[in-house]
Amino acid sequence: MKSINPATNQLLKEYPEHTAGEIESIIEKVHGTRENWSETSFRLRGDLFRKLATLLRADKEKLAILMTSEMGKIIRESQAEIEKCAGTCDYYAEHAESMLKDQVVASDASRSLIAFEPLGLILAVMPWNFPFWQVFRFAAPSLMAGNVAVLKHASNVPGCALAIEELFKDAGFPENVFRTLMIPSSMVSSVIRHPAVKAVTLTGSGPAGSSVASAAAKEIKKAVLELGGSDPLIVLEDADVVKAVQTSLSSRMFNQGQTCISSKRFIVDEKVLEKFTSGLIAAVSALKIGNPMDPTTQVGPLARPDLVDDLEKQVNGSIKAGASLLYGGTRPDGPGSYYLPAILGNVKKGMPAYNEETFGPVFSIITVKSEEEAIAVANDTEFGLAGTVFTKDLARGERVARKIEAGAIFVNGMVKSDPRLPFGGIKKSGYGRELAEYGIREFVNIKTIWIG
Ligand code: NAP
Repeated sequence: MKSINPATNQLLKEYPEHTAGEIESIIEKVHGTRENWSETSFRLRGDLFRKLATLLRADKEKLAILMTSEMGKIIRESQAEIEKCAGTCDYYAEHAESMLKDQVVASDASRSLIAFEPLGLILAVMPWNFPFWQVFRFAAPSLMAGNVAVLKHASNVPGCALAIEELFKDAGFPENVFRTLMIPSSMVSSVIRHPAVKAVTLTGSGPAGSSVASAAAKEIKKAVLELGGSDPLIVLEDADVVKAVQTSLSSRMFNQGQTCISSKRFIVDEKVLEKFTSGLIAAVSALKIGNPMDPTTQVGPLARPDLVDDLEKQVNGSIKAGASLLYGGTRPDGPGSYYLPAILGNVKKGMPAYNEETFGPVFSIITVKSEEEAIAVANDTEFGLAGTVFTKDLARGERVARKIEAGAIFVNGMVKSDPRLPFGGIKKSGYGRELAEYGIREFVNIKTIWIG
């Protein structure tokens, strides 16, 4: 497995893949820990996660440099990602027990209750775009619930995959409660088939989700899928347009636009179109592109050269179909997987920028004439992850939020994940939830106990 710096496209390091024998041995060892681990107290597990949080904070600089060098995220965002992981470890250390405490329910029994018991070994298949956060978002609640886990991370972040395994070890977790498998995606189905693996969670693209869900379904194993999105950001005619522009910029440019929940389709009422578009062009053209290790850089490279090729194809395809290129959309001179953010106007149904997920810095502006049309366009997608509505009328915002088909809608604010709130999508954005009580209960047996 190769670690390649996308700022230069130069090879940083090669890592060997695990052999079939090593994979079997790791799975068996992790499986072997499940009983002891599930019997540990919430207090002990919480102490280990608090220690892990301390290590994450202590190693923040080093881990952030590793992340930025492997996938190009600007260094400030890498540092913030490590902080968020630490905060999430602390949060579940504190709250997992109350989220999973028995629920006594009145019935025809003398006593009946619901208990939440861990399933055992969970396989986590994770993407490169948030190499630490995606893993901790799954691992903190799931391990606090008493599960054990193996991680198959994206092939372009092998250094992060091994660093996470090391952190669990250094924090004092019992050996083999959390392990990393260094395997290509072609091996995932065989891991799912392994009798010790009880469930799988995948964060990634639709095709990967479909493949993992099929393999899990064949074995009648639970799967949670966190897939792509083409999130709408609606700017109604009564919106604070300046705030809408700022939020659009932050949401779409975060992680160079390689975020499942970044706003991708900007659905703007024609009455505020001119103000929104000119504001956005001014804001995007002021961004500083450069070396992601430089703390003043605002736009770094995309994570891999093929991602630039894919994005360029979508932008050029949309322009060919009638979209207007209002800004950017070219590759700057020099090495690395850089792409100048593109603003597309006049985006219409049938264009790649309307129909597909654009996983990079592309603003697709769609003009509408009314609230009803804005809602119809927002829902005119195969995805249903999240979305945003801008209006000064908060009751109107809530009403519109309820009409949009998605797992989360933010009114007058940027969509973000939060350990206290459930996260996940509908339609082709996947199923199941991560985070909060709903997430921590995905990988537990919700057991009814009835006593006559
Ligand atoms: P990806 O290509 O689907 O890869 C994600 C993970 O799945 C990687 O570990 C990958 O391994 C593995 N994988 C790929 N194909 C597979 C297959 N056929 N069977 C089993 N495993 C397979 O996605 P990505 O390019 O890394 O990530 C971008 C996508 O993830 C976007 O669509 C984005 O919206 C989505 N995403 C969703 C969320 C969410 O919470 N909903 C969060 C972040 C990202 P290899 O690297 O070895 O191929």
